[in-house]
Amino acid sequence: MTPSNTSTEAAANVPAESRPSNFIRDIILDDLKTNKYQGRVQTRFPPEPNGYLHIGHAKAICLDFGLADEFHGHTNLRFDDTNPSKEETEYVDSIMEDVKWLGFHWDGLYYASDYFDQLYEWAVKLIKDGKAYVDDLSADQIREHRGTLTQPGKDSPYRNRSVEENLGLFERMKAGEFQDGTRVLRAKIDMASPNLNMRDPVMYRILHASHHRTGDKWCIYPMYDYAHGQSDSLEKVTHSMCTLEFQDHRPLYNWFIEQLGIFPSQQIEFDRLNLTYTMLSKRRLLQLVQEGNVSGWNDPRMPTISGIRRRGYTPEAIRNFVSSIGVSKTEGSIELAMLEHFVREDLNKRAPRVMAVLRPLKVVIDNYQENVVEEMDAVNNPEDENAGTRKVPFSRVLYIDQDDFRENPPKQYFRLSPGREVRLRYGYFVTCASVVKDANGEVVEVHCTYDPASRGGNSPDGRKVKSTIHWVSAAHALDAEVRIYESLFLKEDPNQTEDGKDLTANLNPNSLEVISHAKLEPSLASAAVGNRYQFERLGYFCVDIDSTPGKPVFNRTVALKDTWAKVEKKHGDGKG
Ligand code: ATP
Ligand code: MG
Repeated sequence: MTPSNTSTEAAANVPAESRPSNFIRDIILDDLKTNKYQGRVQTRFPPEPNGYLHIGHAKAICLDFGLADEFHGHTNLRFDDTNPSKEETEYVDSIMEDVKWLGFHWDGLYYASDYFDQLYEWAVKLIKDGKAYVDDLSADQIREHRGTLTQPGKDSPYRNRSVEENLGLFERMKAGEFQDGTRVLRAKIDMASPNLNMRDPVMYRILHASHHRTGDKWCIYPMYDYAHGQSDSLEKVTHSMCTLEFQDHRPLYNWFIEQLGIFPSQQIEFDRLNLTYTMLSKRRLLQLVQEGNVSGWNDPRMPTISGIRRRGYTPEAIRNFVSSIGVSKTEGSIELAMLEHFVREDLNKRAPRVMAVLRPLKVVIDNYQENVVEEMDAVNNPEDENAGTRKVPFSRVLYIDQDDFRENPPKQYFRLSPGREVRLRYGYFVTCASVVKDANGEVVEVHCTYDPASRGGNSPDGRKVKSTIHWVSAAHALDAEVRIYESLFLKEDPNQTEDGKDLTANLNPNSLEVISHAKLEPSLASAAVGNRYQFERLGYFCVDIDSTPGKPVFNRTVALKDTWAKVEKKHGDGKG
């Protein structure tokens, strides 16, 4: 269960009490002190396999696995598969892959459906104890009877059926004698409870549907609220962490556990992660996939674990982000810039530097010999002295980025322009002598002269230049597709829609820009899918799964500009 990053390994040597704490960790520490569970810490991560995991789930995963790990406990992966549906196997597989990729390993692998027999037996027990009954009201009628926050509910006319009648009807529900929706099994609690969850909640519904694991064995399925607490109890989960919206369900879970006299798991609620400009709801993300607004669950613009993995994020960056946002009892929203800050910070340490030109502009060095190629020494990573150096070919015709040249430079612009001298990184000082324009007056070629004494990037006479720009040798450059991403949504809160419009109205039309003919330094010929690089001065990029041997495709993970660092400076601290 140990994530393989150094920060976690280092943390393992720090005495537990002195680590930065949070209220959940404090509860666990307290329970260990009082020996509430005989020193056991057992958690679980309980995804419903109805979609791919997203960055919000990463927060839950880091808590569930991370806390158990810290206290030498255990964590189960349990699929809450109480709702049969066709596509679940794909989701189950992706969830397992994502948890592993984040760096965690589960102890037990379970499915709520493993417990269907036990849950059925317990339902029968509750009927026998007069605590559950079969109701013939329709779903609409049940809703009408439920009452409101200010008004108590009304008892169903079927509420006082005899135990024998209830047992017989429940048995026949199970045997498939009734149509979907004609009857349900309800807990008999209190139709006047101020907590709506306690107003005789439905425990079982009739659903003639095949289940991905139990096939056609069942035509009644337990509701999530009836299955969840008992599943925790069966696995002897000590600390059952979930998001705040389940707080009002806790009394119901405890009620079932008390009636059944089974192991009492302790539920602890925390704030769900919300990120600006980001949609974190599997249902809504599914809509984007189905309507073709994105290329799939793993589109690099998606906030899914598989999307951000493809985009180039590292598990370490995600874990560091989650650990820095902490947990609390009130919901808020975290800046997307903060997530980006953490991937920059991580990639800065590990990503090799290379030179790449996104929008090429041809540069000819008039006084450089034709057919000569020099191999220049380039540093692979200034942050990592073990990363070494590499050779980059330099020749008479180069490409630079269009952004690095202005025919008429504005005041603060110090890059290449007519008459201006700049440094070509790892190359020479060059001075712009003239330009060639096309019929539209666009500059298509820049002519320069170079100073042979400045090889490697410094002039022996101590002459200074104000800017250093990156380049690639035209004859040696690799052609590549580069995909530049912006946030998928334009609105800080994508759920905020105008009347009559749905969330797709908030989609950012510029969330994907494809650059078809970027030019890369030749060392990238050996780049494999998933490899991450810093393109000097541009950002972090990684090789996409769409790459083919003749045509590499790169995703921009994140630009270099650290807007978060600015925010941080302004507010004087590191937390959002
Ligand atoms: P969604 O609303 O995206 O469908 P969900 O809550 O239905 O999410 P589950 O598969 O039921 O998804 O969630 C598994 C676990 O992850 C639960 O314990 C849930 O509380 C937690 N979780 C889900 N979304 C978030 C989030 N945004 N932040 C933190 N934890 C989350
Ligand atoms: Mg759910």
